[in-house]
Amino acid sequence: MAERLARLLRWRCVVIDKREHIGGNAHDAFDSAGVLVHSYGPHYFRTNSARIIDYLSQFTAWHPVEYSIKSRTAGRYWSFPVNLNTYEEMVGHPATEEEFAAYLERVREPIERPANSEEVMLASIGRELYERFFEGYTLKHWKRHPRELDASVCGRIPVRLNRDNRYLSESFQALPRDGYTAMFGSMLQASAPTRFLPGMPLEEARRHFTWKHLIYSGPIDSYFGECHGRLPWRSLRFEPESFTAAKLRNDASADGPAGFWQPAMQVNYPDRDIPFTRIVEIKHATGQRIDATTIVREYPADYEETGEPYYPIPAPDAKRQYRLYRELAEREENTTFIGRLATYRYYNMDQIVGMALKKADDLVARFGGGGNKVRSENEEVRRKKLR
Ligand SMILES: Cc1cc2nc3c(=O)[nH]c(=O)nc-3n(C[C@H](O)[C@H](O)[C@H](O)COP(=O)(O)OP(=O)(O)OC[C@H]3O[C@@H](n4cnc5c(N)ncnc54)[C@H](O)[C@@H]3O)c2cc1C
Repeated sequence: MAERLARLLRWRCVVIDKREHIGGNAHDAFDSAGVLVHSYGPHYFRTNSARIIDYLSQFTAWHPVEYSIKSRTAGRYWSFPVNLNTYEEMVGHPATEEEFAAYLERVREPIERPANSEEVMLASIGRELYERFFEGYTLKHWKRHPRELDASVCGRIPVRLNRDNRYLSESFQALPRDGYTAMFGSMLQASAPTRFLPGMPLEEARRHFTWKHLIYSGPIDSYFGECHGRLPWRSLRFEPESFTAAKLRNDASADGPAGFWQPAMQVNYPDRDIPFTRIVEIKHATGQRIDATTIVREYPADYEETGEPYYPIPAPDAKRQYRLYRELAEREENTTFIGRLATYRYYNMDQIVGMALKKADDLVARFGGGGNKVRSENEEVRRKKLR
């Protein structure tokens, strides 16, 4: 938003974050082993939107990735998301798409309009696959049974009849070549004279600045002093472990190809008696060439445990409570509420970028007078520079 508004409206912007760095949850950094890790859980960038790719490509080159994930349960690795390979691993012999389709036809439960995450999976893959890969994982992650969660939570994970092992389906799947922090750094540079003030909570900024417009991307409930109660948030605890080449060679639990600890970028652990949900070894995706590697175990946690509101809970009761805050937000003058925390909804990064571009367009139309003209002139200058 600051980049758009500084360039299109010539606004003097100040970006603040109570954390000590730019990039929000997409922040990445080199750890003590020299491995580039995503500080707040793995961030797999993907999108179908040409506008979003074009916009971000001004600030970064890309490293194309096929995000690979597996599931580990019953003492072995499984192909995931569920596809023909998973079916073969389950039945223990080669099979065809037709046989897998016939199996699904047999085991699917006849639920006409699935109303929650359990129903959507039972209607799609039947009980055995649902219980093996989804039920325990979802319960651990959300601390709520899939029955109590919106259908979209499990429903957005693809199920394929073919052998397509790719985790995601979007046409563009890539990471910023030099990392997210570098990408945001170059965005900030392009936003001059915008300043970034790290370690600055909004509450403190109110004491130092006045402004004609605020773009707020923090939690909506804390903006309003939790006057309608704290919204339910789900959190995570990250436990990294680094391996030098020698430590990796000597680790009996290492299962990965040379230089890696595990066989895929992400391995899910759906069993309830294992306290973490997944182990991520992001080097598989970043393509970094380095002998060392780092894995991160992800433990689901209550918000109260970490103070980090990572996930809004996608359930009807939470949505009802959020609506009370949205009504307050709609009455708040000169303030734009944007992003995952301020709109209390699970969004991927590309959707957030799309939302920001749209909101910036709205502000340009409102404050810019000849905003569209200013914009097209700026775009033209930038295109020339890129050329
Ligand atoms: C574990 C995890 C994995 C994810 N994986 C993916 C993925 O693979 N692909 C994908 O596309 N998306 C992923 N996401 C989603 C992605 O993180 C979000 O879409 C994106 O970060 C949202 O951007 P945002 O600016 O809305 O919020 P955030 O990135 O959350 O940034 C909000 C910032 O506001 C700051 N803040 C909050 N309150 C205040 C305050 N009062 N004062 C000052 N600063 C404040 C916070 O410190 C934070 O840095 C993942 C999210 C999580 C939590």
